[in-house]
Amino acid sequence: MSSLELRDVAVSYGDHDALAPFSDRIAPGEWLGLIGPNGAGKSTLLRAIVGLVKRRGEVVIDGASVDLHSSRRRAALVAYVPQEPILPDDMTAFEYVLLGRTPYVGYFATESKHDRALAHDVLDRLDLGDFSERRLGELSGGERQRIAIARALAQEAPVLLLDEPTSALDIGHQQQALELVERLRHEHGLTVVSAMHDLTLAGMYSDRLVLLHGGRVVASGSAIDVLSAE
Ligand code: ADP
Ligand code: ADP
Repeated sequence: MSSLELRDVAVSYGDHDALAPFSDRIAPGEWLGLIGPNGAGKSTLLRAIVGLVKRRGEVVIDGASVDLHSSRRRAALVAYVPQEPILPDDMTAFEYVLLGRTPYVGYFATESKHDRALAHDVLDRLDLGDFSERRLGELSGGERQRIAIARALAQEAPVLLLDEPTSALDIGHQQQALELVERLRHEHGLTVVSAMHDLTLAGMYSDRLVLLHGGRVVASGSAIDVLSAE
């Protein structure tokens, strides 16, 4: 169980302020939903937390700034599913999910039996067992998005960041993926931050919503408060 604290996290692209200083404390086991129109800064905030864009401010997990950790340790703390994951077409689904276990040793990793069992387990839980040996290039957009979620879950990080995790999924698979995250949250106290365009799903799964617009927080609170403010 880990807390995630954001202290004045801000991002500018050149002279464009994509995210004004953003502060929040996401409690261990809490699910924070980010909503807002295209360009509001949701992806930018998630990328800033993972360290994929140059940011100001501080990201603190369990009281320690993530900048103090090695990249390997950061991968153990935070798993991230980008909105449109770029997957290596030649890799099989299983090989790719296994990378979640060994993010920095790569393709030629010496993974353990446990790592392999876990990768199979996550694929099965997302009903992707039959795709294990298929190459990613042969899979549909929705299947690839689920594979990307599987890879992040295989990481077993206490903090999970999801950028529009179900945008390419049909309604059945949307619920399946979100239910799995929800179950892991209950079983293991996963702390989740997700950008979601579907307000119904965002309201259903998040404990708390933040509505962004133009890189700023417009409303924040329970789903009922925020959705009625929109
Ligand atoms: P959202 O995820 O809410 O749709 P983004 O975080 O993608 O919003 O975008 C926030 C703002 O930053 C927008 O004005 C967008 O055009 C801009 N932006 C996003 N990525 C880049 C980039 N790589 N370079 C320049 N501007 C960017
Ligand atoms: P055990 O039942 O041996 O105690 P765990 O409770 O640790 O095992 O894990 C049960 C299942 O939940 C396993 O499939 C494991 O991979 C998964 N799991 C545990 N922690 C996380 C996490 N933080 N993120 C995703 N999956 C997890």
